[in-house]
Amino acid sequence: MYKTMLHLAALLFPCFMYSFSFQDFDAYQGRVSKEEIENKLKYLIKAKEAQNYFSLTDDVFILYASLEDKQKGQEEYRLILGSFDVLPTLKKSLANCKIAIDPGHFGSEYSHLEQRFVEISFQKKLLAFNEGDLTFLTALYLKELLEKEGAEVFLTRTKKAEGALSQNFFQFLQTHPDLWLTQKTLTQLFRSVYNGVDLYARAEKINTFKPDITVIIHYNAHNSEKEKYTCTTDKNYNMVFIPGSFGDRELKEEKARYEFLRLLVTSDFFLSRQFSKIVLKKFNEHLQVPSVTSLDGARYLETASIEVEKGVYARNLALTRLVHGPLCYGESLVQNNLAEALRLSHLDTKIQGYPCSSRLKEVALAYFQAIQEFFRQQDEV
Ligand SMILES: [Zn+2]
Repeated sequence: MYKTMLHLAALLFPCFMYSFSFQDFDAYQGRVSKEEIENKLKYLIKAKEAQNYFSLTDDVFILYASLEDKQKGQEEYRLILGSFDVLPTLKKSLANCKIAIDPGHFGSEYSHLEQRFVEISFQKKLLAFNEGDLTFLTALYLKELLEKEGAEVFLTRTKKAEGALSQNFFQFLQTHPDLWLTQKTLTQLFRSVYNGVDLYARAEKINTFKPDITVIIHYNAHNSEKEKYTCTTDKNYNMVFIPGSFGDRELKEEKARYEFLRLLVTSDFFLSRQFSKIVLKKFNEHLQVPSVTSLDGARYLETASIEVEKGVYARNLALTRLVHGPLCYGESLVQNNLAEALRLSHLDTKIQGYPCSSRLKEVALAYFQAIQEFFRQQDEV
């Protein structure tokens, strides 16, 4: 499925496979220390298989395109190691920085197709909302708060029920009749093809904007089966993701190895870690909901992620991998926790004219204060 996605992205949208060259990293020759590489590899590598693509000695880090190439000694890129121990900082203030925000998913009329909705029957009423609209309104409010401080803010999508592609899902299907023959359902096509291409477009837009920092906004769900009604849970927690945790065959593509090398040589990983740790702290304080723990049983934390600190996980999602610069991929709250669903469906305020729950403003405020604190910390370093 993942392969199809990449293949399609390359085939149908060559503009998203923007040119990249390992020579971009030549400026790091003789600088990065072995210690720093080792330290990052702990969080960047999840599967043993990923080790087929590189080797590390005291003096050099070498990237290979495949295990066969590694065995033959055919190098893709050679990085001479050094002894620089640079403390990563942003050297910017909030008032003159650029911030990208990605409101996750599409929402509204696409929420059923993308299977990102909550419908809970409660006391003869239906609690109904969807993640794509929650993230969008949270992003609008966060943008407002940041712009008041002088920051330049970019949103990857500017409407409900919209992604980053100019073609909506049905226009996309019309122009790709080959997909009709795949015998997949509309939901499968949306989730396995359209959504994947859209994520590339989001990353491309963000990287073109060249932000100092990126926030990717999501709301979580726990063991939520999308049948007629959503199952409720007593779990409620926050977590945040940063880049890393490359799994089985996830370094097979040249573009993935490019991003892997970027994470090894730049300060993107450490700054994402610093920033995301603050975001999580602000979630917990503002929302009065704790960080996730292993007892909560979110399986992907074990199978696909590496814990960096409590509640902060490295995970190789399309956007944690493709977006350049420091980022936080936030997964606040469990939408199908009954108490939370009651709060999220209670329309007691408005954001730019859209009726919504004040809970969204609390989430936006948590991100906002985290950004403020992060920039303050950078100043002090
Ligand atoms: Zn999500």
